[in-house]
Order: sequence, then C-alpha cells, then structure tokens
Amino acid sequence: MLTSISGRSVVITGASRGIGKGIARLFAQKGARVLLVARDKAQVEVTAADIRSAGGLAVALAGDVSRREDMAKMAEVAIASHGGIDILCCNAGIFPSAKLGEMTPNDWDQVLDVNLKGTFLSVDACLPSLRASGRGRVVVTSSITGPITGFPGWSHYAASKAGQVGFVRTAAIELAPDGVTVNAVLPGNIRTEGVDALGADYVTEMTSAIPQGRLGSVADIAFAVLFLASDEAAFITGQTLVVDGGQVLPESHMALKGLE
Ligand code: NAP
Repeated sequence: MLTSISGRSVVITGASRGIGKGIARLFAQKGARVLLVARDKAQVEVTAADIRSAGGLAVALAGDVSRREDMAKMAEVAIASHGGIDILCCNAGIFPSAKLGEMTPNDWDQVLDVNLKGTFLSVDACLPSLRASGRGRVVVTSSITGPITGFPGWSHYAASKAGQVGFVRTAAIELAPDGVTVNAVLPGNIRTEGVDALGADYVTEMTSAIPQGRLGSVADIAFAVLFLASDEAAFITGQTLVVDGGQVLPESHMALKGLE
C-alpha cells in the first residue's frame, strides 16, 4: 500500500484525452488536486468536468506546451488554484508519421517542439514550485519508440522520445539536492484516441507483437506514474520504467510463435 497522495497538487499536460486523461483521473480518485492542460479548451474542460462529477478536484487550462508563455500561465494557475505544485506529469505529445525523404524540416521542428522542448518548458515553468514542495516529482511520458525500438515514419518522434530520456537523466542529477525526482515511463502500445486514429490494421499488427496479447490501457500507465510520484519512490531518480506487456522482449517473430 502506497502512502496517500491525497491533497497533492498535480499538473498533467496533454490531459484532455488518452494517457493524460487516465493519469488525471487516477490521481483525482486518489484525492490529489489536478490541473489538466491541453490546447483544445472545450475538450480539456469537458474532461475536467467529468473528473469533478466523479467527485475529484480538477481544474482545466488551455495551453500549448511548446509556448513558454502558456507554461508560465500553467504554473501560475496551479499555484493560484492548488497552492503550489508537487507533481508534474509531462505527458503532452504528438506522433504524426513522415518517412525520411518526405519529412520536412517543419515536420521535424513541430514534433521536437512539442515532445522535447515542451518537456523542458513544462519543467522550467514549474521548477520553483517543485523545489518548494520538498518532495517534488517529475514523471515524463516517453515511449519504447526511440529509447529502445524504432518504427518507420517516426524518426523525429523517436528522436524526441530518446531525447526526453537524456533530459530526465541530467535533470535528475541537477534537482536531486532539492528532493525533486525526475523519471520517465516508457509505454508500449496503449489504447488511446491517438493510437486508434492510426487505424485498425495498426492495432491488430501491434497486438500480435505483444506477448500479453493486448494493447495496454491508460490505467496501466497511470499506475506506473502514480508509483513514481509516491513517497515510496523517493530514492528512484533518473530512471525509466517500461510498461508494454512484454513488447520489447521477443528477439524475433519465432519467439512469439510458441504463444499462438
Ligand atoms: P493522444 O490520445 O493523441 O492525446 C494527446 C494529448 O496531448 C491530448 O490531450 C492533446 O490535446 C495533448 N497535446 C498535444 N499537443 C499538445 C501541445 N502542444 N500542448 C499541450 N497539449 C498537447 O495521445 P496519447 O496516445 O494519450 O499519448 C500521450 C503521450 O504518451 C504522448 O507523449 C505519447 O508520445 C506517449 N505515448 C503514447 C503511446 C500510445 O501507445 N498511446 C505509446 C508511447 C508513448 P490537444 O490536441 O487538445 O492539445
């Protein structure tokens, strides 16, 4: 049993749907005060209202993680609404596909701006409050794609996700004296609106590559984030936690054949 997370102030980027919504819902169920951030104002407000109607304490804010002024506003609203920031979940991310030869510098910049620079800008804006918390936590949603695996069409995405892990390792050292831990979860394929948009063939193919025979749920990721945000995880920093149903384990298709 983990120590209560009740009353903690938690900021979650990319929280209007998918994994971020799952993280926000779980933390709110555990009694935390959550600030949900995403670009689409109407959608993020609907998600926060859902959490409130289930008895949670949730506030919504429209903001883009790649804009420094939006991240400053995010920290301001968290402080005004919840008195500070104890936990930051850097989860906002995009995964458009473009193969090398077709990818434009603009495609590259867009993905790196949101996924990697957005992680830095989110941490930077929340830093004074995380330091003041005394038990600050940063949990970054990276991916298996980049740090461990590759997938055609996602060289920019993979670079951004591997870059997040590099960021986590150095940020963990810099913030250790302040009691702030910085870790990353590396999801495999998780059933979200974003993944559903990749099409039924993608979902079927991916399911066949996962030893547990299913895509992950947003709750599978949220529980890993909750652990890394807990008091019990105080001595874990700069680490990555793969949550993928065993997807990265098979050495070849032959390794999965015995499971059919
Ligand atoms: P999703 O269903 O597409 O949701 C993405 C969320 O991020 C939405 O709330 C979206 O809302 C928000 N967002 C996108 N760009 C943003 C920006 N510039 N500023 C603020 N918010 C932004 O995606 P998901 O599948 O839940 O993925 C969430 C994270 O998990 C991403 O970092 C992704 O790389 C990572 N991940 C996912 C999987 C998977 O299988 N699902 C696997 C590995 C890693 P708006 O569009 O309204 O801003």
